[in-house]
Amino acid sequence: MFGKRFELFKLFGFAIRIDLSWFLVAILVAWFLATEVFPPQYKELAPRVYWTMGILGALGLFISVVLHELGHALVARRFGLEMKGITLFLFGGVAEMSGEPPSAKAEFWVAVAGPAVSVAIGLACFGVGRLAGAGWPVPVQGVVAYLAFINLILVAFNVIPAFPLDGGRVLRSILWQWKSDLRWATRISARIGSGFGVLLILYGVSVVIASNNLLAGMWWFLIGLFLRGAAQMSYQQLLLRQILEGEPVRRFMHDSPVTVPRAISIRELVDDYVYRYHFKLFPVVDGDRLLGCVTTRRIKELPHDEWDRQTVGAIASRCDESNTITPEDDAMKALARMNAGGASRLMVVDGDRLVGILTLKDLLGFFSLKVDLEEREGRAA
Ligand SMILES: [Zn+2]
Repeated sequence: MFGKRFELFKLFGFAIRIDLSWFLVAILVAWFLATEVFPPQYKELAPRVYWTMGILGALGLFISVVLHELGHALVARRFGLEMKGITLFLFGGVAEMSGEPPSAKAEFWVAVAGPAVSVAIGLACFGVGRLAGAGWPVPVQGVVAYLAFINLILVAFNVIPAFPLDGGRVLRSILWQWKSDLRWATRISARIGSGFGVLLILYGVSVVIASNNLLAGMWWFLIGLFLRGAAQMSYQQLLLRQILEGEPVRRFMHDSPVTVPRAISIRELVDDYVYRYHFKLFPVVDGDRLLGCVTTRRIKELPHDEWDRQTVGAIASRCDESNTITPEDDAMKALARMNAGGASRLMVVDGDRLVGILTLKDLLGFFSLKVDLEEREGRAA
């Protein structure tokens, strides 16, 4: 979901990160405010003043979004949810949780907290502007009025019951409480979220056709696409977690894997192993001791004339967290490890002994079978 991002600062122990795409938004917002929003409302100010107002408005929006996410994060922490921090990106902010909320009640309060903060900021800006604003310089009045407006817009968009927007999370918590079935509640809310995403995509297309405003149309189109993807992914992730969590790696591993002796040449490896078995990773052994592994990715880095000169032992990577797992580890942990390292095979090790190979194909095969059989059962019932 994110490209390159970096940490700005910590707030209440949460890392506040910013994705590079956020800068694009900040520049667009400042530009739009300085050229389209403020000039017609507050006439006859210098361009420099409009731009200062635009930049302050974008900064205020940034602070508003951080505080909204902080609302989610603080309540989530109270309910014992582990938080990975807050990230701002192209479409706003996310308070990243590892795992699902422990209960429907927790989900409800975590979801409500963000919009509650935005309502508070919006009303505070509105109230302060009304009560004390008359004596302030016009540009300050303008920025405060904009912040009152944008925070209420933020609330209006977020309370739409389209999962994973906040309103969709509230809907899920209610469905979850009602039938005590998180999977069902997520499936229904994710379908509504995904459907709403399609509506936004269609709206974006109609804006481009009707008004020829490519930028506005693209914006709605992209938000729709993002929302649809996020809804579907949330459901898939929940299914994956429910099906794979608690299943030991031992259940899925192949316990007599093909191994490669360290002394053979790369050419022998390619001809006798890679082209024969079509695996992307082979454990490298010295007798019955595991030395590490060799991958097709590593072979590709070598010039062809090295193939006869180098041995497998010389180019093997050591065993570490990126290529190994133990038989008692959780299958979900193995999947996370494969995901992080972009690997489709892990060596299953017990100390320095190789006991098996775990493949992504087997994990996903089990997953899709189970989904297929259980969803069918759900439909019949
Ligand atoms: Zn929110």
